[in-house]
Amino acid sequence: MMTNDFSFPGLAGRTCVISGGAGILGQAICKGLAGAGIQTAILDINMESAARLAGDLQSEFKTRCIGIGANVLIRESLENAREKILAELGPVDFLINGAGGNSAKATTTVETHHDASLDASLPDQKTFFDLDQAGFQFVFDLNFTGTVLTTQVFGEDMAQRGSGVILNISSMNSFRPLTKIPAYSAAKASINNFTQWLSVHLAQSGVRVNAIAPGFFLTDQNRFLLTEKETGAPTTRGKKIIANTPMGKYGQPEDLQGAVLFLLSEASSFITGIILPVDGGYSAYGGV
Ligand code: NAD
Repeated sequence: MMTNDFSFPGLAGRTCVISGGAGILGQAICKGLAGAGIQTAILDINMESAARLAGDLQSEFKTRCIGIGANVLIRESLENAREKILAELGPVDFLINGAGGNSAKATTTVETHHDASLDASLPDQKTFFDLDQAGFQFVFDLNFTGTVLTTQVFGEDMAQRGSGVILNISSMNSFRPLTKIPAYSAAKASINNFTQWLSVHLAQSGVRVNAIAPGFFLTDQNRFLLTEKETGAPTTRGKKIIANTPMGKYGQPEDLQGAVLFLLSEASSFITGIILPVDGGYSAYGGV
């Protein structure tokens, strides 16, 4: 995995907590943080992966990194994590809310209801009307409630100390929903709304709140939608995405590093309440 060589002011020696830090995009972001000399607490429900990544990054960059097992949906788990982080790394300067994702239970198999009626012979077709309430609940909890709870637990000290940056992870589907994933689209739209709301609420406390909206990155989370399981060839949906991304390719997770470091750094000191697309031009393109 590459690390870009960025130099933004006010980062080295600071402390960042990143939830979901052991995930695919999270790992690349963590590498960018450690590479910038930021002490990093990698908080993830998968404690083993978080600890392994922290060990690797600490050896590579000689920056303090720790892995912490915690569930962003359980306040007590987050509070325990906060105690450990305070004891090991000191006060937290930056919080990245990276835990998130979609669920197959909240994903239709067809793009439109009409498509299903065209091919009713296929088994296991799912339109909006077949989706499971539990699937919607899972996606909203993980993306929205997980971000809110983690922000409450780590953001309060920042507000009291009068400085800090909170960075949420949104998605392209937050601006205009993507077909098949109604819960994930709506949950990420709620992240944009919450980012703006909290940025106003904390604007005079010295805490900035922004989000990045990654475009399309081929990861385990969306591989089943974008590539054929057997052959690895792009699905029709995968082809459409590339056709609608003016740069003509998927992003590499490392492409997020510059945007993240910029928004954490003092170079963005008058920026709060924005959702920054990192998308190869996808959100700018009208499709024609
Ligand atoms: P990922 O599934 O690889 O990583 C998510 C991480 O969160 C995993 O390490 C997982 O163990 C952890 N996690 C899951 N539930 C948790 C919980 N309850 N508490 C704590 N940790 C938990 O996903 P990713 O592709 O790296 O995505 C990271 C973020 O970026 C997510 O918010 C995702 O929605 C968003 N995003 C991803 C893409 C993409 O193309 N992959 C695009 C736009 C936005």
